[in-house]
Amino acid sequence: MKTVMLVDDSNSIRNIIKNALVGQYNVVEAENGKDALAKLPGTAVDFFLFDVNMPEMDGITLLGEVRKLPAHKGTPILMLTTETKDELRQKGRELGASGWIVKPFEPDKLIAAMQKLLG
Ligand SMILES: [Mg+2]
Repeated sequence: MKTVMLVDDSNSIRNIIKNALVGQYNVVEAENGKDALAKLPGTAVDFFLFDVNMPEMDGITLLGEVRKLPAHKGTPILMLTTETKDELRQKGRELGASGWIVKPFEPDKLIAAMQKLLG
């Protein structure tokens, strides 16, 4: 089973996503970018889901940090956001985001986007 690292500061959003992925993916959770980077060593992650607005370290900064890691240059990273500002998307694209999911979303839509990126 592939492992997804789900990074969101909202407990309820993490639970919704986790419930949608259970049985199909192994889910590792983190509360913010800093927490995610701390949990990454020793964890084999196949896919990342990053919220954008988070305390400690936001998802855009986390995206840049994860793309610097040789092991994750090509790992799919989907950004989850309520904002659809072009500026933000442009920044995400430059940093190597694989795609965007706008919240709120249907869990089926998320799973379809993940399956597409995992090929
Ligand atoms: Mg948030």
